[in-house]
Amino acid sequence: MVEVRTGDFVVPGDFLATTEEFVPGEGAYEEGGKIYASSTGVVLVDARMKRISVFSRVLGPPTLKRDDVVVGRVDEVRDQSANVYIGVLRGREDRELPLPNLGMIHISQTHTGYVKDLAKQFKPGDIVRARVLNARREPVQLTTAGDELGVIVAACSRCRALLEREGTKLRCPNCGNVEFRKLANDYRQGVL
Ligand SMILES: [Zn+2]
Repeated sequence: MVEVRTGDFVVPGDFLATTEEFVPGEGAYEEGGKIYASSTGVVLVDARMKRISVFSRVLGPPTLKRDDVVVGRVDEVRDQSANVYIGVLRGREDRELPLPNLGMIHISQTHTGYVKDLAKQFKPGDIVRARVLNARREPVQLTTAGDELGVIVAACSRCRALLEREGTKLRCPNCGNVEFRKLANDYRQGVL
């Protein structure tokens, strides 16, 4: 039985699946018949190989600083800003530690152009790639302006299936719902 799905954002210790149906891949370990995440990152469920993995994109030095590129999960979207849990990792020799940092993307830092409605750029649960503007503030100030920055994985607001890119929009393969995001140019390719 799979408890998580491809695209889910997990932290070390999160339960992923049982060993009855899956084997742990990269970023996962088995203990007592259960598979847990050993990394912070995005889940990939490989149904064919019966393998469940967690892929992290570790960028930047151990300390978060300006211009580091981070991956995080959108927590809350307000009128003027979106809150993001930053999942960037630090540490060495695979001892990856999550930074429990909260980041914030201001509406003016979403896109290179003018953005009127932040709710059409991000939704809670989206996995985003962002660049650090100011790491000395809490929350850390982030930007997604730039082709390589923005949403890299998004789920349907109605049914939670992963959305597929269709030009500049996203379409749900399950229910047909069409949604919009500030997409990174490698949506669902860079991480998964
Ligand atoms: Zn849907």
